[in-house]
Amino acid sequence: MAPQWDAVVVGAGFGGIGAGIELDRLGLHDFVILEREDDLGGTWHVNRYPGLAVDIASVTYSYSFEPNPSWSRLFAPGAELKKYAEHVAVKYDLRRRMRFGTVVEGARWDAGNEQWVVTVAGGETLTARYLLTATGFLSQPYTPPFPGIESFAGKIIHTTAWDDDYDLTDRRAAVIGTGATAVQLVPEVAERVAELTVFQRTPIWVVPKVDAPIPGVVRGLFAKVPLTQKAARLVNTGMLEALMVVGVLHYAQAKPVNSAAAALARAHLYAQVRDPETRAKLTPHYDFGCKRPTFSNTYFKTFNQPHVHLETNPIDHVEPDGIVTADGHKTEIDTLLLATGFNLWDVNFPAIEIIGRDGVDLGKFWRDNRFQAYEGITVPKFPNFLSLNSPYSYSGLSYFTTIEAQMKHMGRLFTEMLRRGEHTFEVTERANAEFLDRVTAKLGSSVFYGGDCATARSYYFNQHGEAALLRPTSTTNAHREAVTFPLDDYTYGRTA
Ligand code: NAP
Repeated sequence: MAPQWDAVVVGAGFGGIGAGIELDRLGLHDFVILEREDDLGGTWHVNRYPGLAVDIASVTYSYSFEPNPSWSRLFAPGAELKKYAEHVAVKYDLRRRMRFGTVVEGARWDAGNEQWVVTVAGGETLTARYLLTATGFLSQPYTPPFPGIESFAGKIIHTTAWDDDYDLTDRRAAVIGTGATAVQLVPEVAERVAELTVFQRTPIWVVPKVDAPIPGVVRGLFAKVPLTQKAARLVNTGMLEALMVVGVLHYAQAKPVNSAAAALARAHLYAQVRDPETRAKLTPHYDFGCKRPTFSNTYFKTFNQPHVHLETNPIDHVEPDGIVTADGHKTEIDTLLLATGFNLWDVNFPAIEIIGRDGVDLGKFWRDNRFQAYEGITVPKFPNFLSLNSPYSYSGLSYFTTIEAQMKHMGRLFTEMLRRGEHTFEVTERANAEFLDRVTAKLGSSVFYGGDCATARSYYFNQHGEAALLRPTSTTNAHREAVTFPLDDYTYGRTA
């Protein structure tokens, strides 16, 4: 029985869009992209909180083959990213192949028919020769189970479900969390509300953001002479690469670089916050890079304002009209803004139930063994499956470096399989084990294992204490391997 589709792609964010473009390039045109939200764009559709912007310069945070000369700023606001995603999806004829409001519950490999059977909420099933999951890393919002939160009588908004109609004017608000989202949100909220209390459990490293509008003349130049934007991308990507490779991955060999980044963040804090006690509270006590650092020129300054308070006592419980901390103090609020991030390791790897060959459950396999994926993309016993958001897959600082390396990997793998006249592939146990050994060894030099990360509470680490999210190599290495990996790292043909 032939499958209905060449491929099912799960997720219509930038990862799923990249996968769709690559499938078309490979001649596998008959695919569908399933998306649980009501429109495309992934993160950039879901997140609409005030202050949302990229913090990787836009010349780099975009597809290299689809430059956008119209970015308004060096770091574009979130709405421009959403618009860019729409533009790419339309230009590459993907929108008509997307199905929104479609929640994929799971997928099971049907060895007899060499196809994936994908189950969608409501009971529908789809069959496809190939399954590609592009469900993102930060796509399962996390709300901590604060006792009493259900009794709160005011408004609760998680940053991934912003209520545009809710007026913050004159509110007494709390923001819980001080990650990258809060760093963007807090200054914006402070401008609107009467009182703002920021509940911080772990301070975050913040360095200045060198941002500015891109003048019309430069945008014109980018449009007329694309090489100029390419050059800007190259310079920016090189700087990010150096920061990541030297400061994070080669921490053991280049500790001073990491220390210099921390010194810059400390100087930034010193220059922006007047009160020494507040400064002390905002100073992280773990090494730079253990947790994703962030960029802002306004976050620290916000704490100088008389109506903005920083609360570092742990939250004990929530009452209908406030938050009570462990010292018994109650902060009265009417608006609770949750910048509490995402659950990566419990519910996102994988985001849906995936059952491979011999009934192996991917989530269980990862939890019972170690989180692993060959080149961050394929797993033994999961034929014809590409997991684009896998352990060790995130390469570099811009997500687009990851997406494009994975597109190249897809290209090489599918081209070889089709050249052989086959229609199944599966990574070998040997290749997967060797890759896992290699990344494990490389992590030994990184800040994650060499640095002081004990108090960071970083989502880079999983429940086993392994920093299994980032690929511990340069992006150059990731891109080179994507086009040179040994073809016999896979078996091709029939798996049944
Ligand atoms: P996050 O980094 O995971 O931060 C969540 C915050 O909530 C942390 O400060 C955390 O404290 C706090 N929190 C969680 N549970 C808590 C509890 N029970 N009690 C008190 N505090 C609690 O999430 P995020 O800020 O949404 O950012 C996630 C990622 O999204 C970023 O790292 C970044 O990769 C991406 N992002 C990117 C941009 C951009 O500009 N490109 C913007 C926003 C986000 P602890 O640290 O103590 O756990």
